[in-house]
Amino acid sequence: MGLAMESLVDLLFPRQCSHCDTWDMGWLCPSCSSQISFIQSSTKHELRSCSGVRALTQYTGIVKDVLHRTKYEDQPWRLIRFTSAVIENEPDTTWLDEIDLIVPMPGDPWRTWKRGFNPAHIIGTEIARSTKRPVAHPRWFTRTGSKPQQALSMDERSKRYQENVFRLNNRYFGEKEGAKCLLVDDIATTGATLRAAADTLLASGLNVDLLVLSIGL
Ligand SMILES: [Zn+2]
Repeated sequence: MGLAMESLVDLLFPRQCSHCDTWDMGWLCPSCSSQISFIQSSTKHELRSCSGVRALTQYTGIVKDVLHRTKYEDQPWRLIRFTSAVIENEPDTTWLDEIDLIVPMPGDPWRTWKRGFNPAHIIGTEIARSTKRPVAHPRWFTRTGSKPQQALSMDERSKRYQENVFRLNNRYFGEKEGAKCLLVDDIATTGATLRAAADTLLASGLNVDLLVLSIGL
């Protein structure tokens, strides 16, 4: 889109900041944007349980708040706008050219059903849209477990992590051996969940790169 056309679109459809709701030219106003610690996705981080994790922001203040309101106040549109703004702010996404398929981290089925959406799928879809990569359908890569995490005893919890809780549907992935997937999630702290999901993809002969919207460093 040409610059003149872009300004015209901005005039006709002004945007609201995904955090403070101020009317602005973008999905993040300059004030909120200045309070976010952006991270270049070209850098890979070593987490306690997972290495090679790319991230877009640090999990602090405004990022925490946007994710909290998305998940617990039923405002998924905040995450759509926020992800779009963060990707627009990212200076170097050339590494994404090598990605064949964006794979959102499967949500816990019970929680996803209760919420009506999976935050990782929102993030994956936004990244796919702005980088023109394909995104995996939620049925392609799934996660078992129907009890909410809080209702599980510690024994059950650790057992659940020992089990292979992620499942790849070979009907879709069968012919994609060697394809490079980008596994996407909202937050990583220790990276244990990323590791478990990535191992399932790797075991099926796929290559895996990892990206989170925010990282707790
Ligand atoms: Zn703002």
